[in-house]
Amino acid sequence: MKEQKYLCKVCGQMIRPTPAGTCPLCGAPREMLVLQRDRDDEENDLKK
Ligand SMILES: [Zn+2]
Repeated sequence: MKEQKYLCKVCGQMIRPTPAGTCPLCGAPREMLVLQRDRDDEENDLKK
């Protein structure tokens, strides 16, 4: 199973949310975390 990474809009870091769904660095709530798509998928989209 792949790890899902999130961008924290508060501290601007790529993070893996805590079990509670918050940012482990700054404690931002789940609403401030943006799921990042797989980098490979993005590259494939650009090549089309
Ligand atoms: Zn954060």
